[in-house]
Amino acid sequence: MRVSWQERFAETPEVLIGARCGRTVVPVLDFAIGGDEFITMAGPCSVESEAQLMAVARHVRRAGARVLRGGAFKPRSSPYAFQGLGLAALKLLAQARGETGLAIVTEVMGEREVPMVAEFADILQIGSRSMENYSLLAAAARSGRPILLKRGMVATIADMLRSAQVILDNGNPNVILCERGIRTFDTALRNTFDSAGIALLKQITHLPVIADPSHACGHRDLVPALARIGIAAGSDGLIVEVHPDPDKALSDGDQSLNFAEFDAMMTALEPWIDLRGIASRSEKLKENADQRREDDFHPMEAVG
Ligand code: PEP
Ligand code: MN
Repeated sequence: MRVSWQERFAETPEVLIGARCGRTVVPVLDFAIGGDEFITMAGPCSVESEAQLMAVARHVRRAGARVLRGGAFKPRSSPYAFQGLGLAALKLLAQARGETGLAIVTEVMGEREVPMVAEFADILQIGSRSMENYSLLAAAARSGRPILLKRGMVATIADMLRSAQVILDNGNPNVILCERGIRTFDTALRNTFDSAGIALLKQITHLPVIADPSHACGHRDLVPALARIGIAAGSDGLIVEVHPDPDKALSDGDQSLNFAEFDAMMTALEPWIDLRGIASRSEKLKENADQRREDDFHPMEAVG
């Protein structure tokens, strides 16, 4: 007998489609994730300096990103690798938001840091290594900020749904799921991108789902292809690593796009986004420009 998805994932009823009428749309500043616009989050793996962050922020804003990513507290495979600039990075992220209007997503690694990170960030990122840290999930949920929940690198879909359920149970409905690649027997790439997982999550849950092509493959030349696959699988957005000089990046340089590569990817993705029947960045930028003209209000002039 065929088991329904509802029965299969009965342990996490609140995340399943049908638990509420319609899909969850997560409001962030002046836009929404999971609605009718495809959302791009972009930025460096780690915040390294004011010059680095501001250059990336201005660039990705112009190319159509809505959210600036950047690690302040970094979970690293090696305990001796760069651990992030902490509070100084949070302040730089807030400065970049002030200048560009981009929303900020950044990782929170420990319960103790939740209030500090929530003060500066618009979206709290729960990293792959923390996905099953339920006390961190609960604390992050209670901050009231939307949560970007990255799939654990060895987490099943059911594990990820349990973590999402913990956030909902702690009174926070604004969960964004992120597929970022999982560990499999194949070591050719950093991880194995689970595009079927994206399609499944979109089919069985009411939550927005985004794809992280950067961590999924670990090589910058494959990032545009995986981004395309993420769009085709039904994702509501992307989170992509971008650095002014990837070869000099303090973390994840191999998978970071430079500015020209990011621009080329954004342009190449447009027809794929159009095929989905949702708004592409150029349409939204045009709409926003029309709106700005109507309002006679020009907040972006400073960044061109
Ligand atoms: C990151 O976004 O830079 C990161 C560390 O991601 P993940 O937790 O998916 O490895
Ligand atoms: Mn990274």
